Amino acid sequence: MRRGALLTAGALSALVTGPIAGRSDAHARWRIDEINDSLARPDTNSRARPSQDPDEDEHRDAAIHELRKRRLTVPVQGVTRGVLRDTFRERRGGDRQHEAMDILAARDTPVLAVEDGSIAKLFLSKPGGITIYQFDSSQTYAYYYAHLARYADGLRERARVERGQVIGFVGTSGNAPPDTPHLHFAIFELTPQKHWWQGTPIDPYPVLK
Ligand SMILES: [Zn+2]
Repeated sequence: MRRGALLTAGALSALVTGPIAGRSDAHARWRIDEINDSLARPDTNSRARPSQDPDEDEHRDAAIHELRKRRLTVPVQGVTRGVLRDTFRERRGGDRQHEAMDILAARDTPVLAVEDGSIAKLFLSKPGGITIYQFDSSQTYAYYYAHLARYADGLRERARVERGQVIGFVGTSGNAPPDTPHLHFAIFELTPQKHWWQGTPIDPYPVLK
């Protein structure tokens, strides 16, 4: 599906499902930790749980260490590192873990590329809404930005992007609560196949804080 399919209010509200539609006004305010927006990629390895495998944990720690050295840009304009929260291991329905970070911001706040790289995929998903998959320049990691209001004008797949470039705008597309605009941001380490939909989730919090 392409972006054009999503741009009417009716189409957007049709994507909002579950308790949001039936909630009462008394419960109209949502807390960020109630957001049920784990945005499972189609084929992502669910290996973010504390594993029994020390080699795997060590590998993930090494990835976090490497990414920290890059001093990634916080992906929402005007948000400082100090206000970020670690929501990686929060439960999001059943056994699923969130495996991402939610960054609250006003609707239409610019979303920034965390570092140089390329646009691997512009994807419309039912839970994630309007989303971007960006690869880093070495195609080792993918950065995932979801619930966007829209893409930046002219953004195209395979386009090069620079650190800090505006690639989209904060919104509530997909299953984000309509009154809680936020960016759902995830990092995963790609497999040798470099599929945009496949990888090992890495906690963005220790990378960005
Ligand atoms: Zn999220």
